[in-house]
Amino acid sequence: MAGVVVFCETTEKGIRSASLPALTAGAALAKQQNGTVTAVVIGAGVAAAAQDAARYAAKVIAYDDPKLAAPLAETHAPLLADAVKRAGAGALLGTATSTGKDFLPRAAALLGAGMASDVTAVLGPNRFRRPAYAGNALEEVELSGAVIVASVRQTEFTPAAASASAGAVENASPGTIDALGAEVVGLHATKSARPDLGEAKVVVSGGRGMKAGENFKVLEQLTDLLGGALGASRAACDAGMVPNDLQVGQTGKVVAPQLYIAVAISGAIQHLAGMKGSKVIVAINKDPEAPIFQVADYGLVTTWEAAIPALISEIKKLKAGG
Ligand SMILES: Cc1cc2nc3c(=O)[nH]c(=O)nc-3n(C[C@H](O)[C@H](O)[C@H](O)COP(=O)(O)OP(=O)(O)OC[C@H]3O[C@@H](n4cnc5c(N)ncnc54)[C@H](O)[C@@H]3O)c2cc1C
Repeated sequence: MAGVVVFCETTEKGIRSASLPALTAGAALAKQQNGTVTAVVIGAGVAAAAQDAARYAAKVIAYDDPKLAAPLAETHAPLLADAVKRAGAGALLGTATSTGKDFLPRAAALLGAGMASDVTAVLGPNRFRRPAYAGNALEEVELSGAVIVASVRQTEFTPAAASASAGAVENASPGTIDALGAEVVGLHATKSARPDLGEAKVVVSGGRGMKAGENFKVLEQLTDLLGGALGASRAACDAGMVPNDLQVGQTGKVVAPQLYIAVAISGAIQHLAGMKGSKVIVAINKDPEAPIFQVADYGLVTTWEAAIPALISEIKKLKAGG
């Protein structure tokens, strides 16, 4: 079977920018398979998102139903599998966001398909490159079977550019929607004026050495001065200093900004797995032996209490032209 279905996550206005790298990977795979790209959007009131997705794909399949308002893998994964069948496609792709990581393996299981996760390159019609051993090795995997599934690493593919001619939108019936007993109890959206961690050009992350959540306020000041996003190590998240969605690393978010500032973070391999791709890495740590200094381009052996206020004051001076 030829053709690639790309799962596009949605907002009220359109598709999430995190889905654009998956559309790029989808186009690369479709080329290898001599097929076309079909985007799929799922939710309640996704007409605008479907139109938006049509700017990037030859065809869009939209499942629009009030019962699909909550983003549940139980209800959405069967529709991803259905879209693959409708499109007669040989592949299903999405971005390795929290949602993609939740929905895609389940869809793969429903399709009886093999899956490659966190793909960093499309090498052939069913061949991908992906990191292994917390990013310390890269492996090439070949998937067999009539349908293959992959999640792609957002930072490794350039966002797709809109094409001049829009694709056609097909509104598909979701059929019986069964949440299998699962229920969304509440959704607490993080409202932030800062850029998304995955897209920010500057990321300032704090670790366990920040000692308390309130101490992150000083990192927020630095982050905002630099127009960046705030991140954290898993230890800082697990200690409840900051929300879990700030976690950078193997089991958190993968970031690749122009500038990554790691403050009071030791540099465990699981943390490095999420930020090693950053262009310039600055480490601030009081321990000269901290492993973070091995990957840092610039290192400051001192406490954050001494370094961060001084940095903030210097940046303010520079910004004021002084
Ligand atoms: C399966 C698995 C998955 C994992 N996934 C992740 C992940 O996704 N992301 C992640 O981050 N971790 C992850 N971890 C955890 C990881 O192994 C480390 O435990 C964690 O990254 C440590 O966080 P940290 O560097 O903040 O804390 P620590 O290792 O405790 O380091 C704190 C650092 O702060 C420094 N420090 C202390 N006080 C100050 C001060 N005043 N000024 C300056 N520096 C100071 C110390 O010198 C030290 O280097 C994972 C672990 C496992 C087993």
